[in-house]
Amino acid sequence: MDEVDLFVIGAGSGGVRAARIAAGYGAKVAIAEEANFGGTCVNRGCVPKKLLVYASRYRGDFDEAAAFGWRVGETAFDWATLIANKDREIARLESVYRRNLDKAGVAIHAQRAVIEDANTVRLADGKRIRAGKILIATGGRPYRGPAFEGQELAITSDEAFHLTELPRRILIVGGGYIAVEFAGIFAGLGSETTLVHRGERLLRGFDTELADELASSYGRNGIGLRLGATVKRIVRDAYGLTVSLSDGSVAHTDVVMLCTGRRPYTGGLGLDSAGVALAPSGAIIVDSQSRTSTPSVFAVGDVTDRVNLTPVAIREGHAFADREFGGTPQPIDYDLIPTAVFSTPELGTVGLPEAAARERYPQLKVFRTGFRTMRSAFAEGEDRMLMKLLVDGATDRVVGVHVLGDAAAEMIQLAGVALTAGATKAQFDMTMALHPSAAEELVTLRQAS
Ligand code: NDP
Repeated sequence: MDEVDLFVIGAGSGGVRAARIAAGYGAKVAIAEEANFGGTCVNRGCVPKKLLVYASRYRGDFDEAAAFGWRVGETAFDWATLIANKDREIARLESVYRRNLDKAGVAIHAQRAVIEDANTVRLADGKRIRAGKILIATGGRPYRGPAFEGQELAITSDEAFHLTELPRRILIVGGGYIAVEFAGIFAGLGSETTLVHRGERLLRGFDTELADELASSYGRNGIGLRLGATVKRIVRDAYGLTVSLSDGSVAHTDVVMLCTGRRPYTGGLGLDSAGVALAPSGAIIVDSQSRTSTPSVFAVGDVTDRVNLTPVAIREGHAFADREFGGTPQPIDYDLIPTAVFSTPELGTVGLPEAAARERYPQLKVFRTGFRTMRSAFAEGEDRMLMKLLVDGATDRVVGVHVLGDAAAEMIQLAGVALTAGATKAQFDMTMALHPSAAEELVTLRQAS
């Protein structure tokens, strides 16, 4: 039987990083992937999503162009071209992932692998490999929610990237990252878009003021928001799809897309035969070092359901390899994770939202500003940029930065550096403003509200 120091199951963001770093330390590493290298992020997530977001934003650009003197001729959007170009780019990136593993000296198995016992992996072709350590990085899968009549007629984000045509009408279910992002995408591309969410407010866990402003913007931009409602039934009929909602209303649409969360992908992996404990959600239970209840088996990324974001999985995979093969343990700070919702307008955030910050910091000071950007005011647009800086009055430390508007994600990445360094409000104020920009507002906020 072949022997390796590390066998990684799943070549997504976390698994690939762990494999490459461990191999760099001289470990003998193998990796198995049953689908596409690069995992969800590259193939069915962040990357193709961002390409679709770019495509959807041309509408706003065309709308504003006239104010800047441009006469834009007739515009038309072709979904097939976008999807074909997207597929070509994803295929290129997938091959880069494979090549990088290969260059790092990692043995690649393009097939499913399952665990036979605490130190043995079995490949789909029957081959068995002994491993000093096993890392599970199989990620997650879309969760379709509790069953209802006609649920099989709905798609998830997995299928949304491969629709043969742009739906004339789409009804999206959920109020999290994926629902909000895809509502913006489809509306921008020209689909008549309805967003159905069981809560009264989108984006639970984000700063409520920004979530409300985003909902207003979506409403102004023609997205039909049905809050406080769930889907009871979908029927295919002469209208296309007829969707019955819990509030008694009915909607007609062409595509229903369920964005009701994702679940860890652990089914059939043989985890019980290795004694690996799972949470009721199916997530692999790990300690702060990503070690499972079986000492030779580790897990990183969405399969552990900690913070389900690509950069977190990458950091966990890297820290695992550093610790187990490089002898350099690196703690991971889960408190300050910059994150963005690629809605249009975009929402970026790092640190605590206001409600949570108030609970943790009794002397919280809130600095906020809302304004139309120079570009939007010039083109007589209605969308407002909203920015909030949350400061612990006791220490003057900035504990949250929240931005809604153009380039929010780019701003928040850098605000994340400041917060990670422990920046105070005084240091934000000391920072020279960059003019004219929207971001300069973050260093010129004077009056706490
Ligand atoms: P989220 O967990 O973000 O949101 C799920 C949404 O579905 C919530 O609004 C939730 O409502 C709702 N929901 C859950 N169960 C039901 C149900 N049974 N009936 C009706 N509604 C339900 O999941 P997503 O699918 O949007 O995204 C999955 C993960 O992918 C995210 O957690 C995120 O970590 C990651 N992601 C990150 C992105 C980024 O960084 N830009 C982009 C896309 C995904 P409620 O709020 O009431 O619970």
